[in-house]
Amino acid sequence: EKVRIYQLAKELGIDTKDLLAHLDSLGVEYKSHSSTLEEDVAETIRQLVSEERGEVAAAPQPQAAATAPAPAEAQPAAPHRAPVVTVMGHVDHGKTSLLDFIRKTRVADKEAGGITQHIGAYRVETPNGPITFLDTPGHEAFTTIRQRGASATDIAVIVIAADDSIMPQTREAIAHARAAGVPIIIAINKTDLPQANVDKVKQDLMRLELVPEDYGGDTITVPISAKTGAGVDQLLEMISLVAELEDLRAPVDGPAEGVIIESVLDKRAGVLATVLVQKGTLRVADYLVSGEVWAKVRRMTDENGQTVAEAGPSVPVQILGFSEQPVAGDKIVSAPDEATAKAIVAERRAAREEAEREGIGKKGVTLADLFGKPKAVKINLILRADTQGSLEAIKGVIAREAEQVEEVDVEVMLDAVGAPTESDLLLASTAGATVMSFGVTAPGSVKKAAERQGITLKSYRIIYDLIEDVQRLIKGQIEPEF
Ligand code: GDP
Repeated sequence: EKVRIYQLAKELGIDTKDLLAHLDSLGVEYKSHSSTLEEDVAETIRQLVSEERGEVAAAPQPQAAATAPAPAEAQPAAPHRAPVVTVMGHVDHGKTSLLDFIRKTRVADKEAGGITQHIGAYRVETPNGPITFLDTPGHEAFTTIRQRGASATDIAVIVIAADDSIMPQTREAIAHARAAGVPIIIAINKTDLPQANVDKVKQDLMRLELVPEDYGGDTITVPISAKTGAGVDQLLEMISLVAELEDLRAPVDGPAEGVIIESVLDKRAGVLATVLVQKGTLRVADYLVSGEVWAKVRRMTDENGQTVAEAGPSVPVQILGFSEQPVAGDKIVSAPDEATAKAIVAERRAAREEAEREGIGKKGVTLADLFGKPKAVKINLILRADTQGSLEAIKGVIAREAEQVEEVDVEVMLDAVGAPTESDLLLASTAGATVMSFGVTAPGSVKKAAERQGITLKSYRIIYDLIEDVQRLIKGQIEPEF
């Protein structure tokens, strides 16, 4: 019987990475950690590993090692940290139910007085180590944090209901995860329903170029039920597996760095901010700066309402001590003392105000400023897509791309659901626009007409590819030689 690489690693009790190294040394080709191995290869590896173990046990400790000076190795790598996971997917596919189920069944025993509370993230223990979940489901939160320049997610779990398969927000979620370069695990949910069709979901995934393992690809799919809990343990196991391959590490010592996950104004307590520590250790009485606000940490609590004295990498804590509300997605850094924290904040405020004054000062000086500086070049686009959801997602990303370049104006002249038409071509030829379609293709007659008129008409199956082409268009305008 054939065995998958990660299964064999588990059987032998070694890291998947080490097993891949063995395969490399044997010259065995594999596609991913989930590829299957021939029985004889698996057997060879088993022998190799047991020989190695035997040798290690039997071989006398080499004398040289005891006396020789420590090898001049590079600094020891920072210790492993828990993966941080975001759950995304279409509305009603079960994101909240999944997060609730995991939390309910996995959060470490609630000590006396502990009350489960929503702080925006929680940590669970699993047989393969702790995992941190951001518990604001959906890609809006994910992307808000990314927009502010931080990244708080190591792995995206995309939940797809088995009775509904891939829906517009599923595509969006996948596009967001891909744009962020975050590994994806697919949780096929609601498998307890009689109308659940796991195979249909897998086939639909292939169309998004996410080929499931059992279809020969390397996309991890786990059938689950957030209602009964079936498959949830396997899902957690897969998260740990992917985390191991990602080799996530962070130093525990040193001043804390992290990101604001959530910030609320509590009528009684004041400003409560949830920080995900990403590096170093955060302690009570530390000084922090985030954006243009600072804090002296007066109290830290975990997701069970328990007071904690310190928080290391991948640990989320709710902090009391900010004088004003920090912004979700802003980074946090430690400051040695109050004076420094205040000075950093004052400096940042001054810099921003200065920039604003300059902006205002310029206005009215020239006509161009008065009427808005004309941008150098304009790119006109006509967008077509299979659904309104995809259209919105594409427009959102294009708008953000366009914001980043001053020299180029990107205008979406028309966006509509359905295949490109002759009338789109008319508009395109008058305005010099490019027609891009996502998930729909133009009929042959329209394609021919476009060719005749010299209009660029392209169709895409992946949002990210479309966006890449838009980026290329923008780049081509800035650097004509590109
Ligand atoms: P979200 O919008 O993605 O957060 O979805 P919810 O978690 O709110 O779930 C939407 C609906 O689906 C709720 O009525 C849930 O009870 C139901 N639901 C979620 N997971 C499952 C499941 O595994 N099986 C069944 N039968 N229902 C589920």
